[in-house]
Amino acid sequence: MNEDRQKILETKHLKKYFSIKDALGKQTGVVKAVDDVSLTLHKGETYGLVGESGCGKSTLGRSILRLFPITEGEVWLEGNDISNLSPGQLRPYRKKMQMIFQDPYTSLNPRKTVGETLEEVLKIHGEKNRTVREEKCQEALRTVGLRPEHYNRFPHEFSGGQRQRVGIARAILVNPSFIVCDEPVSALDVSIQAQIMNLLDALQEEKQLTYLFVSHNMSVINYIADRVGVMYLGHLVEEADTEELFSNPCHPYTQALLSAVLQIGAVRKERIELTGELPSPLHPPAGCVFHTRCPYAEQKCKEKPVMPRELSPGHFVACSLYGS
Ligand code: SF4
Repeated sequence: MNEDRQKILETKHLKKYFSIKDALGKQTGVVKAVDDVSLTLHKGETYGLVGESGCGKSTLGRSILRLFPITEGEVWLEGNDISNLSPGQLRPYRKKMQMIFQDPYTSLNPRKTVGETLEEVLKIHGEKNRTVREEKCQEALRTVGLRPEHYNRFPHEFSGGQRQRVGIARAILVNPSFIVCDEPVSALDVSIQAQIMNLLDALQEEKQLTYLFVSHNMSVINYIADRVGVMYLGHLVEEADTEELFSNPCHPYTQALLSAVLQIGAVRKERIELTGELPSPLHPPAGCVFHTRCPYAEQKCKEKPVMPRELSPGHFVACSLYGS
C-alpha cells in the first residue's frame, strides 16, 4: 500500500559509530550506536521508533538530520542523497527537516524572549525583513495555540506544555516536510502529553508533515504512530503497521516491551521478563544482539547475525524463530 505514496525519508544500511579515545588520542574502542538501519517514511505518516534508553533511537534521529557525520550507509531526503553533503551543501535541506526536543527548556536560550529565539531561526534561513519575521513568528505561535503576548516573554514564564508548544512553533516556522520528534512528551504530565500529541496530529493533517517520533513509551507510540520500528542495541529488530505490531508482536524483545505495559486494544499476553541490563554498544553480543536477554535463545542465535524477514506485507522481524 505504501509503495504508491511519496517517499520523504529513506535510510539505507545506516551506521553511526563513535570512537572512544584515551588521553593520548589513541582509539581504544568503538560504540556502535546505530548499526545497519534501513527504513522508509512516506509523506504524511508518523513512524514511531521505540526501544529502551540507550538503544540508539535518538542517535538515529540525529544521524538522519545530519547533525553529525554518519559512518556508513545513506540518507535520502525527498529523493536527494544527503549522506555526505558538506555543511554548506546541506543548508537548503536544513529547512526541510527540523527537530522537536525532549526538553524545550534546555533548547531555548533563557536570556532571549521567545520572539527573539524564533526570529533567529528565520534570520539563519535568510529572512532579512524584521516585520516579515515578526509576522511569521506570530503566525507560528497562533498555530500552536499560543497568544500574541507570548512573543515578548522569556522561557521561564511558560509552563512545560507551553514551552513544548514554543519548540513546535520553532520547528514549523520554516515549513519543513520532515520532523524528528525526540521524546517530545516524556517530560510532560500525562494530561499535557495528550494535548501536545493532538497538536502534532492536527499540524500533520494541515501541513502534510512526516514525523519520526522517538519514544521509549509503548503507549505513546500506540497513540500516535502509523508504523512502528523497534530498536535494540543499534539494530531495527521489528517493523510493522502499529495495529499489526500491537496485536501480533513477533520479536521476543517487542513481546517483552509490550507485556510490560498496560495494553490498549491488544490481547494481553503472558508477561515476559527482560532479565539483565541492555549490553553496552561498546561490546555488543555476537550473533543476534538480543541473545543475552532472550528467553528463547539457542546456540545458533549466538553464532551469526539474523537478517530481517518479511512475515506478512510490511511486517519485518529479525529473529531465527521465523527462519534465518
Ligand atoms: Fe531470541 Fe534467537 Fe530470536 Fe535472537 S534470534 S530474538 S536470541 S530467538
